[in-house]
Amino acid sequence: MFLKAKQIEAQLSGWRREFHRHPETGFQEHRTARRVAEILQGLGFRVRTGVGRTGVVGELGNGKPVVGVRADMDALPIMEANETPYASERAGVMHACGHDAHTAMALGAATLLATRLKMGKTGGTVRFLFQPSEEMNDPEGVSGAPRMIQDGALEGADYVIAQHVDPFTPVGNIRIASGPASGGVDSWFATIYGQGGHGARPHEVVDPIHITGHVILALNGIVSRRLDPFAPAVVSIGSVHGGQAENVIPDEVAMNGTIRFMDPAVQKKIHAELERAFEIARTLGGDYKLKIEIGTPPMINDPEVVDVIRKAATGLFGAERVLPPLDGLGAEDFGCFSEIAPGAMFSLGCRIEGDPRLIHNPRFDIDESCLAIGTAIMVESVLGFFHK
Ligand SMILES: [Zn+2]
Ligand SMILES: [Zn+2]
Repeated sequence: MFLKAKQIEAQLSGWRREFHRHPETGFQEHRTARRVAEILQGLGFRVRTGVGRTGVVGELGNGKPVVGVRADMDALPIMEANETPYASERAGVMHACGHDAHTAMALGAATLLATRLKMGKTGGTVRFLFQPSEEMNDPEGVSGAPRMIQDGALEGADYVIAQHVDPFTPVGNIRIASGPASGGVDSWFATIYGQGGHGARPHEVVDPIHITGHVILALNGIVSRRLDPFAPAVVSIGSVHGGQAENVIPDEVAMNGTIRFMDPAVQKKIHAELERAFEIARTLGGDYKLKIEIGTPPMINDPEVVDVIRKAATGLFGAERVLPPLDGLGAEDFGCFSEIAPGAMFSLGCRIEGDPRLIHNPRFDIDESCLAIGTAIMVESVLGFFHK
């Protein structure tokens, strides 16, 4: 299958560069979605558009199993610093997370699988999930994966797989393992209430800034004093806003932040500890309001699915090319899919040797020879499920 993927390498790179030149941020992927739908229709897929706002679902084949292949399509609000012929043509928007490559590789896999399925060589159904807005939430705090799920994109799916380019790993290698693969993330928003007044008469007021100081200490003590040191977790404060004039004690202070975790039990514990930290406001004579917005769950790679991907990659490139994952608490909303159907995501080495480019950076780029590799692994994995 790698040879077949190699044969369409120019097409893969062509698609990737086209998407790279025309990046669109979360839930704005109109042009990208139109192109994806057009290509899938040309290949004979049954296509649904507008799934989860701007997502596209393309299905081909018959019967069980139904294997979902997810590719995210959104770009980031970053001004590209590269001057390649395929650099972004939209100021301030850039594919700096490689979702252009994910979309191109999924279209490549669709091309190769369409040939196989039309020849009647295999049974089973492949369902491509071209997802909007992996990076951003809509005004209701919801990102692309859960929006697609609400629109039924995963109904009847038996498995779901995905890949993400990885600039820390040399081309030709992938990283995958069973179990927790990326962190869960929730956001919190809080207001601390006091009773403002003159800065010269602090004994007559309840100073919310003073209270906030104590709350910050308590928040920063959650991970170090209240959680098991072997359980990965983060509690971060992202903003603190209160007051304006130097001689006025304000009525309130607004704060927000993020939490990260691998284990749902740790998530629950952090929620309770956030509440306790803010209760200090009451002890000190003020009050508080805390809203926790549930975000993305941790992404848990299913052992059975990992096994299929690992076999596919090993068969193509050898066992020494399948490496263990790198640690990190970054979030990935693919976790919403793999919460519903057994799923797994692998990292695809895309490093430009001698000049590694960081993800979410204005100079991000990939070594495009990874495109045929990712495409071949996707196709072999889907066939692996079909032949299970
Ligand atoms: Zn990203
Ligand atoms: Zn990404």
